[in-house]
Amino acid sequence: MKCEDSLTKIEAYIHDKMSYRELEDFLEHIKECPDCYDELETYYTITVGMKYLEEERLEAYNIPHMLKEDLRKKERYVRWIHAITGTLFAIGLVLVILFVILILLYLGRIELPILFK
Ligand SMILES: [Zn+2]
Repeated sequence: MKCEDSLTKIEAYIHDKMSYRELEDFLEHIKECPDCYDELETYYTITVGMKYLEEERLEAYNIPHMLKEDLRKKERYVRWIHAITGTLFAIGLVLVILFVILILLYLGRIELPILFK
């Protein structure tokens, strides 16, 4: 992802309106690009600050720390989706192999070893 693309996605990031793929690319870029991270931090601080003012929440908040927590939470989400899709792919692959073996057995093209008879 280029900086121009990343900057157009900041609002979507803050409002949780990104697809999984967009989020993955965005997080990868933000991790490597201090300029875009600074831009994100500025927008995040303004957005969260305005929201808390509207809600009249007057306690002190460490908004840059909240952003770091949010980024960590979303990175965990991306890793979780990766793990799930990897597992589902592996299960699908095993099912396809079993299906092919059953078809070949049914057609008499292969025989089970004596061990399984
Ligand atoms: Zn950038």
